[in-house]
Amino acid sequence: MKVKNYMEEIVEALLPHILDEETYKNQCTCEQCINDIKAITLNNLPPKYITSEQGEVLSKVNRFNVQSEIDVKTALIEAIEKVNNSPNHKVNK
Ligand SMILES: [Zn+2]
Repeated sequence: MKVKNYMEEIVEALLPHILDEETYKNQCTCEQCINDIKAITLNNLPPKYITSEQGEVLSKVNRFNVQSEIDVKTALIEAIEKVNNSPNHKVNK
């Protein structure tokens, strides 16, 4: 039985949708920036640890509640703006 942070799954699921929005079309999506966005987001959110058995139940029941989806979205947008303002990647120019 494994213990994992369910927030990671929510972040993984929501990030592509947010980056798809018109506002974030210019966001760099290199591995470094994506990982930075995820790390900053997860640091700003309370972790929600579950066992993998619970995880299976949760995905059957239908994901997470709406409030945590909104919280994660807000945290993701803050993280995107932070990374956008000071990207960690090497600029090849
Ligand atoms: Zn980048």
